[in-house]
Amino acid sequence: MIVARMAAEDLNQAVRCPACRAPASEHETACRQCGFSLEVADRSFGIAPALHKPISDVAGVLGGFGKRRAAGVVEQVERAFPQLSLAVVLMDVPQQAPLVPYAFWIFNRGQLSSAVEKGGENRLVMLLIDTSSYRAIAMVGYGLEPFIQDIHLQSCLQAALQPLQRGRHAQAIESFARELERQLRDLCVLVKQQFGLEEPARWLDASMAGEEPVGLAESMY
Ligand SMILES: [Zn+2]
Repeated sequence: MIVARMAAEDLNQAVRCPACRAPASEHETACRQCGFSLEVADRSFGIAPALHKPISDVAGVLGGFGKRRAAGVVEQVERAFPQLSLAVVLMDVPQQAPLVPYAFWIFNRGQLSSAVEKGGENRLVMLLIDTSSYRAIAMVGYGLEPFIQDIHLQSCLQAALQPLQRGRHAQAIESFARELERQLRDLCVLVKQQFGLEEPARWLDASMAGEEPVGLAESMY
């Protein structure tokens, strides 16, 4: 059942039931603790909207310029890291729906991944922005789990927080995506160092040369 991990402010454990937070396994069909499953979620949340990548603006909060620009940044990340895909969903999450199980349900039922991208083959990063409350949550598929930890997603959400609180959704997406790219570049350096493929110093030099000035996005909106 559980095919995504998640990060929100209060979450820092690995695979857990999205409803009760009890430890869970990918191979269980329902949570042993509370009985949560996607089928149960279907019954309480109804029919999931058909979403698409890179950006599904269900709430209709993005202007044309902001949407194009944010999509451009997402594509840039995907070009740099073709192993993963990024989906951003902006929607009013029903007020009675708890955010984490709802996001989990959207991740699995929103048609963001194809049928073959199950379990370890799923390398989707989803950013869900609740436009009714300015909350945001990020989840990754199992295929990314060995690499992208909660701490990385937290950092991406943190980057999106300020623009989100100002209602600047496009900028929030851009900040999230840019931070994700930064985190992934750091991870690549780390992985290569761990396998002894590169000298640390060379990578440090390279990353410093490619650093972009912070705050560039701010002036665009
Ligand atoms: Zn549970």
